[in-house]
Amino acid sequence: SAPTSMPTTGLSALLERLRDLLGDNAVLTGTDVTNREVDWLSKAPCHAAAILRPATPHQVQEIMRLCHAARQPVVTHGGLTGLVHGAEAQPEELVISLERLNAIEHLDPVAGTIQVQAGVPLQRVQEAAAAADMQFPVDLGARGSCTIGGNIATNAGGNRVIRFGMMRQQVIGLEAVLANGELISSMSPMLKNNAGYDLKQLFIGSEGTLGIVTRAVLRLQPALTDTRTALVACPSFDAVTTLLTRLRHQLGGSLSAFEVMWQSHFALIAEHSGRHTPPLATSAPYYALVESLSADSDRHQSLFERAMEDAFAQGLVEDAVIAQSGTQRESLWAIRDDIEGIVEALSPLMAFDVSLPIEHMQDYVSGVETELRSRWPEARLVVFGHLGDGNLHLSVSISENTQATRHEVEHCLYQPLAALNGSISAEHGIGLEKRDWLPISRSPAELALMTTLKQALDPHGLLNRDKVLRWPQSGGESI
Ligand code: FAD
Repeated sequence: SAPTSMPTTGLSALLERLRDLLGDNAVLTGTDVTNREVDWLSKAPCHAAAILRPATPHQVQEIMRLCHAARQPVVTHGGLTGLVHGAEAQPEELVISLERLNAIEHLDPVAGTIQVQAGVPLQRVQEAAAAADMQFPVDLGARGSCTIGGNIATNAGGNRVIRFGMMRQQVIGLEAVLANGELISSMSPMLKNNAGYDLKQLFIGSEGTLGIVTRAVLRLQPALTDTRTALVACPSFDAVTTLLTRLRHQLGGSLSAFEVMWQSHFALIAEHSGRHTPPLATSAPYYALVESLSADSDRHQSLFERAMEDAFAQGLVEDAVIAQSGTQRESLWAIRDDIEGIVEALSPLMAFDVSLPIEHMQDYVSGVETELRSRWPEARLVVFGHLGDGNLHLSVSISENTQATRHEVEHCLYQPLAALNGSISAEHGIGLEKRDWLPISRSPAELALMTTLKQALDPHGLLNRDKVLRWPQSGGESI
């Protein structure tokens, strides 16, 4: 099929060589490219000159050797669920999709590790771990589509960070291809390995700007099959934070999720969307979805129920539903996970992911709301968060949806974070969307060091150019 844009002679020649190297079915052009959506929220099509589908880490190396020689910029694609435009590609760029690097290579039940290729979807790793009576604890709504490589590149967080940490905490070993095609193998499965710099950390959370992750060794946890879940209504923000502190202690470290929905968010999804049966009245100011995981069911059940009774007795909770079955648990989580319902109800929607100290959250949210309403009286703000991680997700809907308005809204949300020592990105990364706001969360010295690292690993800016850090528009090809 015809290429998406007319390639330059150099690009045509490069694509010919890549076809020879990978085979025709591994080089997609034309509608095979434009039919792919690179942005989960806007459904924008892919504009790259071609999509390359290597089947082995060695083929990724070969691609990068050729692209390096031709100074050809590339963008890496995992499951395309990222939320900061990190997978967008320009018409003159090539996409490297890791969809065929999808093997689970080895599971070691004694060491408690699993070795996988980067294109494996998260859910398949969770299922493989469960089949071996273990668990892979990172979990997020996009589990069926997002890939381990994408999770590593974005240092994904999700629903159980409070107990198990982010993706970074699960990665024991990693393999990545550099911009010049060199393969860096840090695949040692050893938990303890202090032999010099921990190079794998460079690639975790750097959003594909320093290397292409091709394989990883991940840490597994023992299966914790007894799950206790409750949705509780809290009368105040103080009650929410006190409840969090109490549950951490009372549940003896088994608290695995503490997801808080502001009334506006809960009412919109549970009631107005028509997509769920509201499990609780929707008039309380805050709702928390609380989950605890343990291997020991009898003791765990009584611990959890006692903690809930105490919370009632102390006035921290005014209403609650405790899941009595897996199906009930799923329907409670379906409310929290219903991002599509939010998008449907609030379209056009601007979605934000920030972190800040819990003690400042309530003032931050009400300050943002006041500021938005003073500029756009019709503005709607709905909020939920992985509260125990200091992470809030804010969705804003206003009728104007121009670039200029978006910038003003971003200013309202991001500027207050500077004084609070907060972050403009808790877990989604920077991509293109937040790049120009990075100085709010990083000092000039930190930004300079990031630039030095980029320059050392990718001096020609071939990997995810312009993402995270702006690629200079003038002044030669090196930063
Ligand atoms: P992609 O979207 O394909 O890529 C994301 C970025 O990583 C891009 O910059 C890409 O170039 C780069 N990249 C991808 N693969 C590689 C690789 N192998 N090597 C180098 N760079 C690579 N995120 C959270 O953290 N927590 C959540 O709770 C959460 N919930 C979500 C819920 C929904 C419904 C959706 C749609 C998204 C959610 N996300 C969440 C965001 C997203 O799922 C994560 O960012 C995920 O880790 C991205 O993985 P992916 O394979 O889809 O990556």
